[in-house]
Amino acid sequence: MDCLNSERFKALMDDALAAVRARAEEFSTLDAAIGDGDHGTAIVKALAAASAAADSATGLKAMLNDMGFRAMSESSGSTSTLIGAWLVGMSDGVQAEELDAAQVAAIFAAGLANVRRQTKAKVGDKTMLDALIPATDALQAHVDLGIGGMFSAAADAAAAGAASTEQLVARFGRARNLGERTIGHADPGAMSMACIFQAWARSFPTATHSKER
Ligand SMILES: [Mg+2]
Repeated sequence: MDCLNSERFKALMDDALAAVRARAEEFSTLDAAIGDGDHGTAIVKALAAASAAADSATGLKAMLNDMGFRAMSESSGSTSTLIGAWLVGMSDGVQAEELDAAQVAAIFAAGLANVRRQTKAKVGDKTMLDALIPATDALQAHVDLGIGGMFSAAADAAAAGAASTEQLVARFGRARNLGERTIGHADPGAMSMACIFQAWARSFPTATHSKER
């Protein structure tokens, strides 16, 4: 059966952490060009905190909530705040222990809605939202493909969104002060968000599920 449950979400978070950790230096280097150079460290810290919280929680809703709050309490930086809000918002959207494709799209929509309570950034502002918004839309648009197919579509949309930030002028955070000088450098938050969805597209067991059907 094609479903996402707490065990699988925990595995996804571990995969995201490993993928982001492998590229942490790249994200910090990008951040150094337009910000303070700490994004690689910040995103690894936030995901590591979320992953650690998953070990002790029971049930998908409680687990996502614990992951989110642990990520938020990890640091006062915007990365931890936004990743934490994302996970807590997903928790708010959980209606069952085993989510089908439509319910997966729904928790990601709830996650994005909660991120938007923390930031006014929208597509085109050169932030992680440039990857997260199109990825969330792609999940919703591809429910008919099943969860693995949805993550593949979301990964492609997130990667395209992240790549588009290279040509944008930053309007949020420290990067905003650099104005036009941010053109030519992709946003590190959008890049790491795309990296997370790419990890999920690789690791969600699509093949196994299509055989079971
Ligand atoms: Mg930074």
